Amino acid sequence: ELVIDRIYKSFGADQVLHDVSFAAHDGEFISILGPSGSGKSTLFKVIGGITRQDAGEIYINGERITGKSGYISYMPQSAALMPWRTVLDNVLLGQEIAGKRDPAKAVKMLERAGLIGYEKRFPHQLSGGMKQRVSFIRSLLSPQTLICLDEPFSALDEFTRFDMQKWLLSIWQEYSKTILFVTHNIEEALFLSDRLIILSAKPAEIKRDWQIPFERPRTEQLLYTNEFLQWKK
Ligand code: ATP
Ligand code: MG
Repeated sequence: ELVIDRIYKSFGADQVLHDVSFAAHDGEFISILGPSGSGKSTLFKVIGGITRQDAGEIYINGERITGKSGYISYMPQSAALMPWRTVLDNVLLGQEIAGKRDPAKAVKMLERAGLIGYEKRFPHQLSGGMKQRVSFIRSLLSPQTLICLDEPFSALDEFTRFDMQKWLLSIWQEYSKTILFVTHNIEEALFLSDRLIILSAKPAEIKRDWQIPFERPRTEQLLYTNEFLQWKK
């Protein structure tokens, strides 16, 4: 279980995360939504130990991991590939850090993502959507059970996106992963996740602006954090 406990983060006078708390249970698929600039990527960087929060703690199974990296497989919003490494070597990176390379599995996954034949290319020779899939596969191949995906499919065409969504769901089930998933696509969030977490928005605004149909498959519960908590107090 991942516990996010009262996280605060400001950049100068700009308070980005205000009292964000939630728990992700093992095997849960949670989507995180919120307007651009509401702090979704910042929250992931805090969870991944890349950015240090001003206050609050993060626990995995009761162990405090605040500020530590390596507990989470994190796919950043920009694909963040290493330009000097080939596609295959980029994909293998997460495994290398964990000390167990499995190139055969990596090639199989590249094939599944429509990237076979590109193993020896370098990132600058790929399209934006290809880079995104390489980064996506890298995060899936990393051994951690907890995965944070920051808008992983934003650069994909609708067909490829749907294919990747189905693939992600099958991997999530097969390997019992716990997934935190940032997206701007409400349909995608409702299709994929057990639960939605919405940063910096009030329920009335969400109903008005996003017209969420509340009875949709998979998503069972809406949970509001951040300004909603301030608003409720
Ligand atoms: P988007 O949907 O556009 O990706 P987001 O919800 O992921 O947005 P963040 O990237 O977390 O938003 O940024 C939240 C706020 O924090 C923004 O106002 C941004 O300018 C600010 N911010 C993020 N990183 C830094 C930084 N390193 N220094 C200063 N301000 C930052
Ligand atoms: Mg972001």
